[in-house]
Amino acid sequence: MRKPIIAGNWKMYKTFSEAKEFVEEVKGLAPDASKVDSVICAPALFLQQLQASVEGSTLQIGAQTMHEEKEGAFTGEISPAQLADLGIPYVIIGHSERRQYFNETDASVNKKVHAAFEFGLTPIMCVGETLEQRESGSTGSIVENQVAEGLKGLTEEQASKTVIAYEPIWAIGTGKTATAEDANEVCGIIRKKVAALYNDETAQQIRIQYGGSVKPANIEELLGMEHIDGALVGGASLETESFVKLLEAG
Ligand code: PGA
Repeated sequence: MRKPIIAGNWKMYKTFSEAKEFVEEVKGLAPDASKVDSVICAPALFLQQLQASVEGSTLQIGAQTMHEEKEGAFTGEISPAQLADLGIPYVIIGHSERRQYFNETDASVNKKVHAAFEFGLTPIMCVGETLEQRESGSTGSIVENQVAEGLKGLTEEQASKTVIAYEPIWAIGTGKTATAEDANEVCGIIRKKVAALYNDETAQQIRIQYGGSVKPANIEELLGMEHIDGALVGGASLETESFVKLLEAG
């Protein structure tokens, strides 16, 4: 059985004091680590201190992005080596906002996913279609292609450890959630693609999250679906009460 993974993506929200207060409150409420992986992906500026503050709890801290190189003259960037050195376990790669505003492509996503494994980080690799693509009926092929390009060159073991977040772009921050059936259908397409690229065992192991307006009111139905193994949550991860409810549903 796949262990659910519920990850909050704070994006560029919260000051450090707010972040610290949130983590202090939630770390004692996060469920048993054998039941669910509970993660907060925080702004890079806060990672070190939040990482220290969750020590000994089941709450884990992740990064929201990183550069693909170990080091170099890349002003303002953060490297996988730097994240690994802090003991950060997860990093979101290729969120649609990174693809849209920071020119990330399937090729750069693939480089970053490789770099994550090289430094012992688990990538949460995001894929998903635009509204236009959905309406033209190309969701399946778009997402299959993003998965194939993103996982390219990974070993079977690395692929099975990757977390894929299926986030339809039209559902992010809009309050519009894909129906649980639609979300499950696309997550099923992703799993089938992983089976075709690797094998059934890898496809059964890989965890696939749904993301896009997940909240306490819809999480149970989403997680009840065969192919949905967790959630990547923006808005509803910003309040302690709703985030704890999401973790408890995991
Ligand atoms: P949302 O964001 O939950 O606010 O829709 C999801 C995400 O961007 O990961």
